[in-house]
Order: sequence, then C-alpha cells, then structure tokens
Amino acid sequence: MHHPFAITLDVGTSLANHTGSWRSERPVYVDRLPPCNNACPAGENIQGWLFHAESGDYENAWRVLTQDNPMPAIMGRVCYHPCENACNRARIDDAVGINAVERFLGDQAIEHGWRFAPPAAESGKRVLVIGAGPSGLSAAYHLRRLGHAVEIHEAGPLAGGMMRFGIPKYRLPREVLDAEITRILDLGITLRLNAKIEHVAATMAAGKFDAVFLAVGAHIGKRTYIPAGDSAKILDAVSLLRSMESEDKPLLGRRVAIYGGGNTAIDAARTAKRLGATDAIIVYRRTRDRMPAHDFEVEEALEEGVMLKWLSTIKRMDEGTITVEKMALDANGFPQPTGAFETLEADSLVLALGQDVDLSLLAGLPGLAIKDGVVQVGANMMTGATGVFAGGDMVPGERTVTVAVGHGKKAARHIDGWLRSSAHTPAPKHEIAGFEHLNAWYYADAPKTVRPTLEIARRRTTFDEVVKALDETNALYEARRCLSCGNCFECDNCYGICPDNAVIKLGPGNRFKFNYDYCKGCALCAAECPCGAIKMVPEQI
Ligand SMILES: Cc1cc2nc3c(=O)[nH]c(=O)nc-3n(C[C@H](O)[C@H](O)[C@H](O)COP(=O)(O)OP(=O)(O)OC[C@H]3O[C@@H](n4cnc5c(N)ncnc54)[C@H](O)[C@@H]3O)c2cc1C
Ligand code: SF4
Ligand code: SF4
Ligand code: SF4
Repeated sequence: MHHPFAITLDVGTSLANHTGSWRSERPVYVDRLPPCNNACPAGENIQGWLFHAESGDYENAWRVLTQDNPMPAIMGRVCYHPCENACNRARIDDAVGINAVERFLGDQAIEHGWRFAPPAAESGKRVLVIGAGPSGLSAAYHLRRLGHAVEIHEAGPLAGGMMRFGIPKYRLPREVLDAEITRILDLGITLRLNAKIEHVAATMAAGKFDAVFLAVGAHIGKRTYIPAGDSAKILDAVSLLRSMESEDKPLLGRRVAIYGGGNTAIDAARTAKRLGATDAIIVYRRTRDRMPAHDFEVEEALEEGVMLKWLSTIKRMDEGTITVEKMALDANGFPQPTGAFETLEADSLVLALGQDVDLSLLAGLPGLAIKDGVVQVGANMMTGATGVFAGGDMVPGERTVTVAVGHGKKAARHIDGWLRSSAHTPAPKHEIAGFEHLNAWYYADAPKTVRPTLEIARRRTTFDEVVKALDETNALYEARRCLSCGNCFECDNCYGICPDNAVIKLGPGNRFKFNYDYCKGCALCAAECPCGAIKMVPEQI
C-alpha cells in the first residue's frame, strides 16, 4: 500500500496521536462559489468585498469590487440585484442587502476620491469602442487596465448611454453618473463625443485599430399603428426621457396615457407625474403579474399616484381622448379582444413598447449574423466578423445595465487574449455553495435593513433621488449579515473543535491548514464549519 502523505515526526510532536494514516477521508479547505456571485451578471466577488466591508475596510472592499465592475455607485442604484434573489441568507431571514452596501461603497469612493490603479504595462495595441453606454465604458475600463490604448466614439453629446438618456434622475443622480464615468476616463481613455460612427470597417481602417467593441445599445422606440386625429399628441418613451436631459422639457398636458408594461413605461409615467400631470395612467394589455416591469418599481409608481389599467389595448386617439378595448386572457394567458370599448381622457400618449437596434453602421462587415434584430456573438463575444466584438443591448440577452457591464468585461478579456494571440480561457467555475453546505444555526437572526425613501410629496413634484443611502452603521450591519458562503471567514471553529489539534492557524488573512499527520479523518471540522469551506475527500490509496 502506498501512502502519498508519509508521516514525518517533528521535534516535540511525539506525544500526539499519529492517527493520520488510518483515515479513509481527509478534510481539505475549499473555496466554493457563493450563489450571489454566480448570479451577478457582472461576476462580482460579492463575498470577497463584503468580507472587507464588514471589518470597516471600505477602500479595500471597493478595490475588490471594482476588479469586476467599475461603477458601484451606479449599480447600487439601478441594478435589479439578481444576486439578492440567489443569496443563501434569504433562507434564514432575508437576503443580504448587497445592492445597498454596493452603493455605500461606491458613494464612499466618490466622497474620498479613490482612483483606479493605472495599467502595469502598455501593450501597444489600439482598440476602438463604439458607444459610451455601460457596456462600452466597462469594456474600455477593462481593456485599459490590461494595457491597451482605448478610444471610445460616442454619437451623443455626453457619455452614459441609457444611464443618462433613459434612466431618470430620481433614480440615478447625474453627479453620481458623472463621477464614475470621469474616473474610468481618467485611466487614460480617449472619449470622442458627437462622433457617430456610420461605417465600422472604414473607421477601423482609418484609425488603425487592432480590434473593435460594438456597444451601440437599442435606441429606436418601437411604434405601433394607432389611428389618430391630426391634433393627437403621440410620442415614444425613449424620446420623452431623452428630452428630459435637454433644455426644452416636453409638454405632455394634464392627462398622460402610457402604453406598455415594462420598466420604461413606469419611468415615463413617473416622469410625467413629476412634470405636472394630474393623471398618469399606464395602459397594459395583460395583467399586473404578467408585466415585465419589476414589482418594486410598480409599487413606487403607485405610491406616487400613477394609475394602471390592465387588460386594455389602445385602439385610437383623438384630441383629448383615447379609445381602449377591453381584453380577456385566453387559456394560454394571451390577451384576446372582447369587442368592448371605453374612452379615457388623455392629452398625450406615450408609447413604451420596447426598443430596436439601429444596425446601419454594420453595413459591409463580412460574416456578421443578425437574428431577431440583434447581432449574434459567440461565447467569446466576437461577432461573425473577425476582430469585431459586441455586447450590451445590441446582442441577445437581458437588457440591463449589469448585463451590459458584464458583457463589456467578458469581451475585454477575450479581446485581450485575441490581441495577444493567447485565447482567454475563463477559470473553471467552482462548485456552488448551496444552502445545504451551510450550518445555518451558527448565524444569529438579523433582519435586513430597510432603505429609507424620500417623502411622497417630494417624490411627486421633484426629481430628487427617491431611494436614499444606508449610513455607515447600517452598511456595516448589512455587510456583517453575509454568511460568507463557501469561503472561510476565519471563525476559528475548525481550529477549536479538532480533537487532535490537527488544524494549524496561519494568522489573520492567511486562514488555516491541516496537519495530516495528526488528523484521523473524523470530519468534525467539516461538519462544524458554518460556511461549507471544508470538504471531506477520499484518501488516495
Ligand atoms: C427608461 C429606461 C430605464 C432603464 N432602467 C434600467 C435600470 O433601472 N436598471 C437596469 O439595469 N437597466 C435599465 N435599463 C436598461 C439599460 O439602460 C440598458 O440595458 C443599458 O443601458 C444597455 O447598455 P449598452 O451599453 O448596451 O447601450 P446604451 O446604454 O444604449 O449605450 C449605447 C451608446 O452608444 C451610442 N451610439 C449608438 N449608435 C452609435 C454610433 N453609430 N456611433 C457611436 N455611438 C453610438 C449611444 O449614443 C449610446 O450612448 C433602462 C432602459 C431604459 C430605456
Ligand atoms: S451588480 Fe447587481 S447583481 Fe452584481 S452585486 Fe451588484 S447589485 Fe448584485
Ligand atoms: S450570504 Fe453572503 S456569500 Fe452567501 S449568498 Fe448571501 S451575500 Fe453571498
Ligand atoms: S470553521 Fe471557520 S475557520 Fe474553519 S474553515 Fe470554516 S469558516 Fe474557516
């Protein structure tokens, strides 16, 4: 029989039980992938940054966070936080308020002026990024940190994409947006504004770029044909929200109808209210539970006095009125007309029916595949055209800021590999730390902190930020609610519980190791580790 772990005797250890060689299983320290991290579209190492945050080391927490996502103050306001839906803590009481702590860290960074470290070395390669929305900015940030020269060409007068020209100020104050964009550009990224690219291939050749990342988003508001009299005022939600950033605010009248059931419809309705509409009514063809908008946004809109009309389609518009037809859901849940009509008062009608991608700049690119109006990309985010990568709203996938940021990061890593002729192979994913890996009874009950909100009266009339920040005490408390799923947080349990003193403490930050000479494989440590960071593996005999 061969033992790869031969027993060696150290001086002074002869009194201990050398039981190691009888084991059939040995404990090993592992890092499992926390489910929050797995669910974050930007791939943030949440457990990693919460670990620093809970000891009050906010700058380090922010540095760990921004290795994956350069815009935490923005994310902490607009991300729909799928991480929290996956959080194991929800099975004990409530999910950790990851998004709220992220915002706290982002705000701390702005307040204290923390900067990103410049790239270690220049690669000599030039990458063109088209579009300064979240996807383009994220790609530019990661590419620059990898040492490439980056030039962003942006059609609009300011950077930010839909974060500026879609998401209203009451959810994302522009000082926050500006601060995080400026910090990214300060890495030495060139931004050309009012520089719409008409032809990708020609721009690449003229600028001698080695690769390109396309992130032009989806900006063309979908229209539907609604018969209307001459004086009927119909506009699309994207144009309405965009015009909020210009000098001339739109005139919508007192009663505004909004057609659609997504988040854009909600933002348009809440904006109409703030512009002075007495009635802002969302007309949607299905029921509330089938609305694509998030529940919390619907709630916030209702609190502000926005009205919702279900199971209705708009048939025509005349001056001051719209005609709606009642719908009924069929057996498959699809709305079917009923032939019953109703008239509602409305001075203007805002269409929020989704957006299409303007693909005109891609003309003449060989090999490009377009399906359902979006550009197809491979697992490495490269389109069918060599050296042309794409991400964000213009490729298939969920249309959110966080997905766009994640695409930018992923594309940057693959562009880097491609430019260096060494294909980037993502690290194999660790096993996920499920709830079954945890010993939940070790953790005290600690309900989630509720985020404060602005009082309703001010929400209805101003564009002040609605959801407020956690203060430091709350942020610390929230960070400490993290169970550190699958990753040792140095609680000393294994060290204290081992009957054979086989656990060696390596000092703060360095965790532990096993002295297999003394471990008899009793598995107590693995059973008592609160967070599932010890695994029993069969001995290799
Ligand atoms: C009203 C509204 C509210 C939203 N709210 C949220 C939210 O709360 N949370 C969330 O996660 N997501 C939200 N979204 C979705 C989110 O904004 C988008 O998914 C995200 O911005 C997509 O990022 P992107 O970088 O792909 O594109 P965009 O943000 O659209 O940016 C694309 C950029 O490319 C530029 N561009 C376009 N064509 C050219 C060209 N030919 N040459 C040069 N530049 C060009 C555009 O001017 C723009 O700046 C919202 C969307 C809308 C419309
Ligand atoms: S970016 Fe969104 S999903 Fe990722 S950690 Fe932050 S809140 Fe969670
Ligand atoms: S408890 Fe912490 S590590 Fe576990 S899923 Fe939640 S945030 Fe992530
Ligand atoms: S018991 Fe505590 S110290 Fe030991 S591995 Fe688990 S978390 Fe780390």
